[in-house]
Amino acid sequence: MSNLLILGGTTEANALAKAISDQGIAAVYSYAGRVETPRPQPLPVRIGGFGGPDGLAGYIQQNAITHVVDATHPFAAQMSRNAITACTATKTPLVALTRPEWTARAGDRWRHVPDIAAAVRELSGAPHRVFLAVGRMHLEDFAAQPQHHYLLRLVDEPSALPLPNCDVVVAKGPFAEDDDRALMKRHDIELVVSKNAGGSGARAKLDAARTLGIPVLMIDRPVLPQRTELTNVVQALDWLSHSGVNLGV
Ligand code: NAP
Repeated sequence: MSNLLILGGTTEANALAKAISDQGIAAVYSYAGRVETPRPQPLPVRIGGFGGPDGLAGYIQQNAITHVVDATHPFAAQMSRNAITACTATKTPLVALTRPEWTARAGDRWRHVPDIAAAVRELSGAPHRVFLAVGRMHLEDFAAQPQHHYLLRLVDEPSALPLPNCDVVVAKGPFAEDDDRALMKRHDIELVVSKNAGGSGARAKLDAARTLGIPVLMIDRPVLPQRTELTNVVQALDWLSHSGVNLGV
């Protein structure tokens, strides 16, 4: 009997959860617990960290998990590294379901940086109006460049912010290019800072930036150890089937 663990918190994980539920396969969906109201899933849900790679290995063994699908965000590198370590230790088949990264198109004005720290360093200098589209968890890092006026788009209303000059928009994707263009014009944005998350739901800001001729500071993805990576649900179902999971439908 198979019993999957889906490491979630993404659109890809949600789509996989639906497909797995439709197939009648036993599975658990895991959230880190970062947002106030996690989206309901058609599978049993658990919330919170496992306690590092050892904790995850223990969870896999105690719950007789047979396969792990790491469908976390491409920037959730710690979780992905832990999954590789724990699955290696427990000899549990692991696959990553992730989205292809964004690539620049004609007219894009992207400057690449390898990580958040490099993005923060790039922001030294004269004040600008910056659309800081990096999510809530990395705002602290940008407190080192308080001279800018930041536009933040966050999933939940923040309780306190580490940036002295900012406007906050509380919104959940997917976003549309027209809306993002209007948002960026309204806020006189001069620079967009973005993680290379990939996918369609958050691409709108990049398309809007290109149309408006606004430069983008693009934070490249963290580099992970070698692992099997798939980019859509059908591929994930094929992988599960070839890895011994009995697909019911
Ligand atoms: P991270 O830095 O890689 O993970 C830090 C710790 O959070 C992990 O070591 C693990 O704790 C716990 N964790 C992360 N994902 C988990 C999951 N799905 N289930 C249970 N525990 C989890 O991850 P992060 O960047 O904070 O992202 C947290 C969650 O938000 C992920 O589920 C990710 O898919 C989602 N998300 C992240 C981003 C982003 O930009 N980073 C964007 C959208 C959504 P233990 O070591 O205690 O197990």
